[in-house]
Amino acid sequence: MTAHTNKTVKVKSFYLLMVLFLCVKVHAQRPFEFNNTAVGPGTKQHFTITISDKDTSTFIPVTVFHGRQAGPVLGITAGVHGYEYAPILAGQRLIQEIDPNQLNGTIILVQVANVGSFLGRSPYLNPLDGKNLNRSFPGDANGTLTERIAHFISEKIIPRCNYFVDVHSGDAPEDLMPYAAYYQHDEKSEISAKGRAMAEHMGFDHVIVFKTTESNYMKAGQPSLYCSAQAFKHGIPAADIECGRLGMIESKFVEKIVTGLGSLLHHLEMTGGTPIPPKGTLYVEERAYISSSHTGFFYPLKSSGDYVEKGMRIGYFTDFFNQTIEDIYTTSSGIILYMLGTPPVNKGETLIAIGKIE
Ligand SMILES: [Zn+2]
Repeated sequence: MTAHTNKTVKVKSFYLLMVLFLCVKVHAQRPFEFNNTAVGPGTKQHFTITISDKDTSTFIPVTVFHGRQAGPVLGITAGVHGYEYAPILAGQRLIQEIDPNQLNGTIILVQVANVGSFLGRSPYLNPLDGKNLNRSFPGDANGTLTERIAHFISEKIIPRCNYFVDVHSGDAPEDLMPYAAYYQHDEKSEISAKGRAMAEHMGFDHVIVFKTTESNYMKAGQPSLYCSAQAFKHGIPAADIECGRLGMIESKFVEKIVTGLGSLLHHLEMTGGTPIPPKGTLYVEERAYISSSHTGFFYPLKSSGDYVEKGMRIGYFTDFFNQTIEDIYTTSSGIILYMLGTPPVNKGETLIAIGKIE
């Protein structure tokens, strides 16, 4: 009896060990290799990536969160425009808020893609070479510093990702309303649908569809220009966030980005919890732009998020001696996605973008 019991216990223990072994084997994570460093499961690691040309150098601060459990790789970029502070401060918050022990998969978070623009307090452009990083993709390993930053992100980060989100806000002169966006292409229906689901689950009332089927930057042999377009062009579902305005720090917008990215992690099943449902989301499929026909002062009479009718007076120009030169009227009805919110205006610049709500 005793001998029999021992044998049963041994057999049971053997099977139990086998089950445990298989469970561990199925879910075990290998370290995540990034920049010649192994990031262990359940840990996060900060990287300072040096980017130099023969004359000068800059760096890209990156945090890799490697989950204890297996799952997808999500790339997040903030600070592609270094004067857009809400996304950058949201990224700083995520350092504490994402617990790699509770994470399935891996997050590669670029804290500030364009440190030159950030430290130089420079809207749009990197003062180190005068280039706009979000017009520089896929970049060039032998180009200027901005082109080299784009090249690093294109080669070392984007190809590692299963999903990608680039986070922006209204730059210094841009009065912008918060929205999410995704890339759509008729020949990439599956990844377009995945990108759409990403954008829908980040808690924004408005989702903009970037229709790229006819876009030059999606064609083979043409530069992708935009950070998230580089991901989408290479088969990775991609979304954008635009949240924050006028280069200001408003905590409600920082919070909205943190909450939106948290909800995206739920949606991708990288963290437990329920994503914010796409309830009542309004879709913008067409955008209309009005460009400036003058150089001088612009006085807006409306704000981002306002609904406007076609033919409505929405602002006016003056010259440098406060003479009104021209009134500006809308050319279509819809919601103001962004408009110039500060006085200086150069001929040919975009004054206002109106989203046509479907
Ligand atoms: Zn931007």
